[in-house]
Amino acid sequence: MDKHDDPYQEIRDAVRSLCAEFPDEYFRKIDEQRGYPEAFVDALMAAGWLSAMIPEEYGGSGLGLAEASVIMEEINRCGANAGAVHGQMYNMGTVLRHGSPEQKQKYLPEIAAGRLRIQSMGVTEPTTGTDTTKIKTTAVKKDGRYVVNGQKVWISRVQHSDLMVLLARTTPLAEVKKKSEGMSIFIVDLREAIGKGMEVRPIPNMVNHETNELFFDNLEIPEENLIGEEGRGFKYILDGLNAERTLIAAECIGDGYWFVDRAVKYANERVVFDRPIGKNQGVQFPIADAFIEVEAANLMRFRACELFDAHKPCGAEANMAKYLAAKASWEAANVCLQTHGGFGFANEYDVERKFRETRLYQVAPISTNLIYSYVAEHLLGLPRSF
Ligand SMILES: Cc1cc2nc3c(=O)[nH]c(=O)nc-3n(C[C@H](O)[C@H](O)[C@H](O)COP(=O)(O)OP(=O)(O)OC[C@H]3O[C@@H](n4cnc5c(N)ncnc54)[C@H](O)[C@@H]3O)c2cc1C
Repeated sequence: MDKHDDPYQEIRDAVRSLCAEFPDEYFRKIDEQRGYPEAFVDALMAAGWLSAMIPEEYGGSGLGLAEASVIMEEINRCGANAGAVHGQMYNMGTVLRHGSPEQKQKYLPEIAAGRLRIQSMGVTEPTTGTDTTKIKTTAVKKDGRYVVNGQKVWISRVQHSDLMVLLARTTPLAEVKKKSEGMSIFIVDLREAIGKGMEVRPIPNMVNHETNELFFDNLEIPEENLIGEEGRGFKYILDGLNAERTLIAAECIGDGYWFVDRAVKYANERVVFDRPIGKNQGVQFPIADAFIEVEAANLMRFRACELFDAHKPCGAEANMAKYLAAKASWEAANVCLQTHGGFGFANEYDVERKFRETRLYQVAPISTNLIYSYVAEHLLGLPRSF
């Protein structure tokens, strides 16, 4: 799109200028150290970018999903990884949509001001995986508190968050009419919980993504931390997923453009057989192909944003945007690596780092097969398989 026609150019320019303070070397070093980009995250919070979607009455910017997605896209397009921060952008939506007036007043202004981090959402469990309604973590009401027991896995940013949205079963599966009933969500104050009923074990992994196993042993949560009605938590979580998927699609789009830009630059500069490698159609066509795929995915991402911001159903578009964008960014990553030849493997080019980072989105927050399954069943009317 022409720079002058882009309604989000102002946001893009502002995020880019913040990101420019954090060059490739910064993120490379953090990756090598398996660290967390504290200074970068602090800068994003201080500038208010992560409270974009919090309404103005609570101190946020009251922007839509489209604007929020542009922020995420630009972060990844600049060479960073929004995986360190994206929870802050969408987890607050659960409180906003389903929290009580008291909860909103208590948490949202603090989140908007960047004084409180709500980076984590605890859903996945080791023994049940994608089959979420079978989760085994329970929360039992007792003397004005809920007592939580169980285990979660792959829960991200817990060590860099103050609050976590937790999904637990409050009514046993055998006692509910529909398997999606009987689960509830809670705000867990991590500052109080860790070491007092909740244990955190980091999971070393392929990406520099802070993610953990969580163990709950009689963790007590005050009753007032229940969000919405008891038993309706699964529905509330699902409500938030469209925003999450669309934002992550935008991150993949940002990655996709980053890979294409780097591939083009290298293909123009690298001279072999007395000419730039980009002169060979065997090198330039895959880059053109990757660019086309990213552009196409981008259209679906903005379609999902448009529907979400108009308060219309957007489950199909959000899922398809996530699918297309994750696929396009992964293909662009492969092309970029191939274009760089051996240097694609060298840390100093950052291609291998971004390659690892973008691969995650074929699996999390929802794996490709589960998107196929959603489309097959809900859009095409094929028989339910599980
Ligand atoms: C780095 C990282 C960060 C994460 N952060 C979070 C987080 O913050 N919070 C959180 O709650 N979770 C988080 N997750 C978990 C993530 O959402 C899950 O890994 C993902 O949803 C897949 O679930 P699973 O790993 O249990 O795979 P499984 O459910 O065990 O599935 C394994 C494979 O089998 C396929 N499969 C399973 N069943 C079917 C079927 N019926 N038909 C076809 N294929 C099927 C899946 O598509 C997948 O490819 C994170 C994961 C990672 C790796």
